[in-house]
Amino acid sequence: MQVKEILNSGKVTLSFEVFPPKTSDAFEAVDAAVNQIAALRPDFMSVTYGAGGGTSAYTVRIAKDIKEKYGVTSLAHLSCVSSTREQVRGMLDQMKENGIENVLALRGDIPKDATFPLANQYHYASELIEEIRNYAPNLCIGAACYPEGHPESANKAEDIQHLKEKVDAGVDFITTQMFFDNAILHNYLYRIREAGVNVPVCAGIMPVTAASQMKRIFQLSGTYLPARFKSILDRFGGNPAAMKQAGIAYATEQIIDLIANGVDHIHVYTMNKPEIAAQIQANLSEIINL
Ligand code: FAD
Repeated sequence: MQVKEILNSGKVTLSFEVFPPKTSDAFEAVDAAVNQIAALRPDFMSVTYGAGGGTSAYTVRIAKDIKEKYGVTSLAHLSCVSSTREQVRGMLDQMKENGIENVLALRGDIPKDATFPLANQYHYASELIEEIRNYAPNLCIGAACYPEGHPESANKAEDIQHLKEKVDAGVDFITTQMFFDNAILHNYLYRIREAGVNVPVCAGIMPVTAASQMKRIFQLSGTYLPARFKSILDRFGGNPAAMKQAGIAYATEQIIDLIANGVDHIHVYTMNKPEIAAQIQANLSEIINL
């Protein structure tokens, strides 16, 4: 099924994200986690794509398994900044051969040693979206968006303008970067709707269940941390079991507040952890059946 049909069905949706293994040795463990997460019957599952080499080879395979072996709609991520046009088309051919119906079209992070813009390749996700629309017109296309602005953007207005270009190039839905303060999302939704971005939005929620995870997230994206969240880290960060419980509770509360305020599509960054996906889903069992 196409993700856009699910998001346009008028129901509250809950989707989960998984990532492929870095090496073939880890494939079985990832497959087992994917199977357990799929058994929760989310509305769809997305599979990330490694920027260049490594894990990208497994994205299509896992997305195919999610759909065919585990019976859940799947969404394969695809990034373009480290690939030639031929490589991207090769990946789109693979998607077609494997019955993939949905793709999240991304630029990817620019490799540290690269001069940007790269010659004869894609510079921005909007170019990949145009390519997919022309080369694989049957795919349902999603794109990424950034409620706090993408780190490379001079300001949010410019970033929203570029988001509009992506949507105009043929995007069916967008998924947000994680955020920990719902007011940031509500403000962003107002601004993107005002800018003419009218496709469904999946709100990306990251359950932070270990203090070390937060340190990494903060270093990578500089995401705003509300005082309430900092207190949780201060008080429970040194106790893994307590931190996990508090992190799941925080993510649950964030989701309930979003749904209560009309944000109907929730995408959880489950990080290949079935127990976290299961607990969040159990906490929402009546709420997501709306
Ligand atoms: P773009 O939309 O191309 O934007 C990148 C920057 O360029 C922004 O600052 C934008 O404002 C600016 N820009 C866009 N167009 C123009 C223009 N014409 N002129 C000037 N500036 C412009 N990465 C992976 O490698 N694999 C994944 O699986 C993956 N999944 C993700 C899922 C989600 C939901 C999100 C939010 C991010 C994901 N990422 C993933 C990270 C993503 O690849 C990086 O954030 C990357 O730096 C930007 O990708 P993009 O598709 O948003 O790029």
